[in-house]
Amino acid sequence: MMGNCSTVNKGVFSAAVCVNKQIGHEFYRLGLEFSGGAAAAFAAARPGQFLELDLADVPLPSTETIPADLADASCRDILLRRPFSFANVDTKGQKSLVEILYRVVGPATLRMTTLSASDSVSVIGPLGNDFRVPEEKKTALLVAGGMGAGPLLFLAKLFTEDFTDIDVTVFAGAKTAKQLPFERRLDKLSQRLGFSIAEFAGYGIKSLVATDDGSMGFAGLVTDYLSRWLKKADLAGERTIIYGCGPEPMLAKVAEIADSFKIDCQVSMERMMACGIGLCQGCAVECKAADSGDTIYKMCCKDGPVFEAGKVVF
Ligand SMILES: Cc1cc2nc3c(=O)[nH]c(=O)nc-3n(C[C@H](O)[C@H](O)[C@H](O)COP(=O)(O)OP(=O)(O)OC[C@H]3O[C@@H](n4cnc5c(N)ncnc54)[C@H](O)[C@@H]3O)c2cc1C
Repeated sequence: MMGNCSTVNKGVFSAAVCVNKQIGHEFYRLGLEFSGGAAAAFAAARPGQFLELDLADVPLPSTETIPADLADASCRDILLRRPFSFANVDTKGQKSLVEILYRVVGPATLRMTTLSASDSVSVIGPLGNDFRVPEEKKTALLVAGGMGAGPLLFLAKLFTEDFTDIDVTVFAGAKTAKQLPFERRLDKLSQRLGFSIAEFAGYGIKSLVATDDGSMGFAGLVTDYLSRWLKKADLAGERTIIYGCGPEPMLAKVAEIADSFKIDCQVSMERMMACGIGLCQGCAVECKAADSGDTIYKMCCKDGPVFEAGKVVF
């Protein structure tokens, strides 16, 4: 089993913003640069892990640019840091570069849009555990719902660099094509060959798209697409693994599908979080206790966010 989150030193660090680019209607890509001890800590960050940003003192965008549905929420103070997963981590000389994909949904992410190069922001991280890659696996299926694509992009990179004997396919779902959090789409020929999303194609990985309204790829839920695809694929369940990241109802369905095909499955869970290190006990995930019908509560920030899907009570 590969995964090394226990060796990572977390801390409170300052990061320099190097890019904050709008990549879609509500989607942005934020690049953060770390130096010194922070660079070493983040260089060791793994797919599935996350950081917490302090956005309390970051200004709001101008009133006329705030979407009407977020006008009320924008007035709220930002008391807690907000968690974001790594979409990529690179090292450049003595520095570490971290990339986050984010969607503007409330007061903190609205403020995030005003960050620009030369700003600095306080970060706690790297936090949480990571996606594990069991040794016997030959096929990995990465299932992303909406913003769940971020950590799976980083996982795709890990497969390309460290697990070249594992065949990887990505399933990316969203309500509409516009709500897929990617910058570029490939041409029709690439799409027919199974390379729909340029970011995954860059890692040499096939990606299949599903949209609820049929505006791109399979018309329907990404989990229906996965299920149909698995019925046709001739895969050995014990040699296959599914990784899921996205809204909880989608993860519950992914877990159910994995169970019915007897495939190992890991899911990245989301909870509102405060401390990020397991102290406040605010981000409980109900899990099945081993060897009994009881349930126990694990902390999403410390024991997760990645859980064995079969252990989570959805
Ligand atoms: C481990 C982890 C990794 C994450 N990674 C990313 C990422 O890479 N990109 C990204 O855009 N977002 C990510 N999120 C979600 C992000 O942290 C929240 O959307 C954040 O609260 C946004 O802050 P806000 O003030 O803009 O909106 P808020 O006002 O905090 O939230 C807006 C709405 O979303 C709901 N909400 C917020 N967070 C959650 C949650 N965790 N579970 C269920 N509902 C929630 C709130 O109830 C509210 O209705 C992650 C969350 C977790 C726990």
